[in-house]
Amino acid sequence: MFCYTDIKTYHGQLMTGATTCVQAVQFYLNQIRQHQDLNAYLEIFADEALEIANTLDAERLQGKPIGPLHGVVVGIKDVIAYKGHALSAASKILENYKAVYSATAIEKLIAAGAIIIGRQNCDEFAMGSSNENSAFGPVKNAADHERVPGGSSGGSAVAVQANLCMVSLGSDTGGSVRQPADFCGVVGLKPSYGRISRYGLIAYASSFDQIGIFSKNVADAALVLEVIAGEDAMDSTVASVAVPAYSQLMQAPMAPKKIAYFKETLSHPGLDPEIKSQIENHISILTAAGHCVEAINFDLLNFVVPTYYVLTTAEASSNLSRYDGIRFGHRTKEKVEDLADMYKFSRTEGFGAEVQRRILLGTFVLSAGYFDAYFTKAQQVRQKLVDFTNQVFKAYDFIISPTVPTTAFKIGTKHATATEIFLADIYTVYANLVGVPGISLPLFKHSNGMPFGLQVMSASMEEAALLHFSNSLMKA
Ligand code: GLN
Repeated sequence: MFCYTDIKTYHGQLMTGATTCVQAVQFYLNQIRQHQDLNAYLEIFADEALEIANTLDAERLQGKPIGPLHGVVVGIKDVIAYKGHALSAASKILENYKAVYSATAIEKLIAAGAIIIGRQNCDEFAMGSSNENSAFGPVKNAADHERVPGGSSGGSAVAVQANLCMVSLGSDTGGSVRQPADFCGVVGLKPSYGRISRYGLIAYASSFDQIGIFSKNVADAALVLEVIAGEDAMDSTVASVAVPAYSQLMQAPMAPKKIAYFKETLSHPGLDPEIKSQIENHISILTAAGHCVEAINFDLLNFVVPTYYVLTTAEASSNLSRYDGIRFGHRTKEKVEDLADMYKFSRTEGFGAEVQRRILLGTFVLSAGYFDAYFTKAQQVRQKLVDFTNQVFKAYDFIISPTVPTTAFKIGTKHATATEIFLADIYTVYANLVGVPGISLPLFKHSNGMPFGLQVMSASMEEAALLHFSNSLMKA
């Protein structure tokens, strides 16, 4: 039977003839069929994936050189454009919409030999932390079907967790890769802002959004990042810095590092006591291994969530104004009097409740009388956070924290207040506010049976060091 551990081992098996790309695709198609109740995928590209696998097998047998992601079976969150395939952002407003071009990240995956097996369920327009905001139903956590997988990239996390693909691409605006990775017990990497092109990624909050990677181990994430990162003529926000060969750096010996953690993160009242004690225990392990771990003050911790929600809703209200039902997407069937009415009906019918809430909030914080009190103020806090972060990374290599204050909660239990669910983003939104990379490593298990992770962040564009260190933590 096909058994997956990592890309390198899989490539070794392909080269000795122990397996084929077709066998790999068949294995995942079968797995997906057997786990349909998880609702991780919105659509499977079965015939196409098998055809590509066939071609790759034939080329390899002819002795053609293989690409770095040859035959790697990838699932993509339904916010990333793949030409000719449906793209819905898990929203009714984009029902029947087909992508007219592919995201740069997708073009690069395909050029490297990857096989895209399907598009994955998520929170509508990537807004949420539980996948319960999808217009196509919630996703279940494979470790406990009564619990959420996290969000917004819940389908992508579960697909890796339940062996429904080798790696997934998600997106992370405030934690949507790291938080579901934490809830599902897989690796979730959000690279630096500007590391991967956002061309073809449906925009939620453009100054925060970044494509991220789910995998079973750090080496796979490193290899995928190496392939999809880098400059792109289609996205001027991508940094013009070279992309290191991340996957080659994994084996180098690990020198002692300087690691900071924010006192306030561990003393936060919302933090599950068991998560706290396991993280504290891990800090002792790091110290015993020769690293220098120090607690530092972070007085701005309680401002990160409000700042994040002011700025992201503002950006979302502008980004989502393009969904008007005129050229594409859902258009109302109601008899309307005028154009404004048509927009109103189409948008009211097409957008779910959470997306409507955020458009309203964002419009409010940008409105004439409130702009300075909310939007300008939040921009000022963001700048303070950036300045503070630059200082921290002058003295330290990494910042560590829990990824999420609790483990995965039960489906249907957190709807009472939006603020409750917003506040749980406290440890993840910081990296997006300041643009640094963050990774969630599945190092822990709670006594309630659920996995949880350690978040590690580095200075912007320092993914090489971040991945190398993360790999050593996973191996230890
Ligand atoms: N939970 C956060 C939100 O709802 C993060 C979403 C994301 O990263 N896309 O905005």
